[in-house]
Amino acid sequence: MAAAELDRMVHPDEARRIVLSQVRRLAVEQVALGDAAWRVLAEDVVATEDHPPFPAATMDGYAVVASDASPWREVLGEQMAGQVLDLEVSEGAVVRIMTGAPMPRGADAVVRVEATEPAEDHVVILQEDVATGENIRTVGSDVRRGEVVLPAGTVLGPAELGLVAAVGFVPVPVSTRPRVSVVSTGDELVEPGEPVGPGQIRDSNRFSLVAALSAAGASVTWSGKAPDNAVSLRALLIERMAESDVVITSGGVSMGDLDLIKPLLGDLTKVHFRRVFMKPGKPLNFATTAGGTLVFGLPGNPVSALVSFETFIRPALRSMMGCASIDRPRVSVALAQGTPPSDRIEMQRATVRVDPEGQLVATTTGSQASSRLASFLGANALLVVAPRETPYEPGERVDAVLLGPPLGPE
Ligand code: AMP
Ligand code: MG
Repeated sequence: MAAAELDRMVHPDEARRIVLSQVRRLAVEQVALGDAAWRVLAEDVVATEDHPPFPAATMDGYAVVASDASPWREVLGEQMAGQVLDLEVSEGAVVRIMTGAPMPRGADAVVRVEATEPAEDHVVILQEDVATGENIRTVGSDVRRGEVVLPAGTVLGPAELGLVAAVGFVPVPVSTRPRVSVVSTGDELVEPGEPVGPGQIRDSNRFSLVAALSAAGASVTWSGKAPDNAVSLRALLIERMAESDVVITSGGVSMGDLDLIKPLLGDLTKVHFRRVFMKPGKPLNFATTAGGTLVFGLPGNPVSALVSFETFIRPALRSMMGCASIDRPRVSVALAQGTPPSDRIEMQRATVRVDPEGQLVATTTGSQASSRLASFLGANALLVVAPRETPYEPGERVDAVLLGPPLGPE
C-alpha cells in the first residue's frame, strides 16, 4: 500500500472493521468443568435429558393426595432426597418428604411442614385448600430434553457453568485462548524493581496490558522489554509473530528517529493502517503476518495504549474466541461538567453514576493527558466525545462505552 494511503487517518469505526475482518477463529479444545470458568463455549449445549428427571418436592413436608379432606393422616414413611422408597400414598395417608426427594406414587402435592402438626404416629394437616401439583417440581420444569441450554459463544460464568454441570455436558468444548506476546519498546524503560537512572522511566505498559489481556480471556505466552535497536527488535518480532496469535508492542510508533516499529512492520508484515482519528491513540499501527498473526503497534503513552487496547484489541480477542458479544455496552449519558472541543474523536475517562432521577451522568476523572494513567482510576466509562469547534456544556449528552456497571447516586 502507498505510504500516503497508510498514513490516512482512519475513523475508529473503520479501523475496528478492518481489524475484525482480519480475525481468524481459534481452534476448539475440550476442558474439564473445573477449568471452564470464564472460557467461551464453542458449541451449543443441548440437554440430552429432562431436568429434573423425576417429579420432586420443592419443600420439606408431607406428600399428600391434594383432594384428601381429612385432617388426620397416617404417616407411611420418610422419603429422603437421593433414594426411591416403594410407598404408595392414598386418601388418609401421607409420606414425610424432603426437598429434592422424588414424589411417591399416588401423591400429587406437598404440604409444607409448617402447615402441619405431628400427633404420635399421625400428622394433622392444617392447610385447608391443597392444590394439585403444589410444591412439586415437574419433570423437565427447569430444562427440557432437546432444549438449547446455552448457545455457542456464551462466556461461562457461575450460572452458565452450573447449567453445563447440571445437564452433564462434559468435557466442555471451549475456544482455545489467544496466545499473546507483549513487547514494551524503548531504551528509557527499566524494570519496575530496578533503580531509575537519569532520563529513565519504569515500564508500566507491559503490566497493565498483561492485566487487560487476562481479563479479556487471552493467554499471555510471552512478555518483555526490547531496546530501540533495529536488529534485536526485528529478531524478537519475527520470533514472537511465529509463536503468537496476537503480538502487541507499545512505543516506537511516533515520528521520532528511534521509532522503529513502523518501519519494521512495513518490512515484515502487511500493514493495514497506522493512524486513527482518535484521541488518545492516534499512532496505532495494525498489521497482519502471512501466517495470520495480528500485530498491534500501540502508542507508548500509557493511557493511549490502554484506550487502544479497549477499542480495538479486546473486541478482536473476543471475536477470535467466537464470543457472542464482543463489545462493551454503549449508552447515552449526560455530562456533569463541560469539556473543551477536540479535533479528533476523544475517548475521555469518566465515572458514570445513576443520579437520583435515574439518569446516567458522567463525571470526568480529571486531566485527560495521555501520560496520566490516574485518569483511568475510578473510571467505569470511556466517553466518546465527537470533534467540533465549540465546547461541550454541562448537561449535554454523549455516548459512553461502559467498562463496568454505573455507580449509584453519590
Ligand atoms: P513512544 O511512543 O515510544 O514515543 O513513547 C511515548 C511516551 O510513552 C514516552 O514518554 C515514553 O517514555 C512512554 N512510554 C513508552 N513505553 C512505555 C512503557 N512501556 N511504560 C510506560 N511509559 C512508556
Ligand atoms: Mg519510544
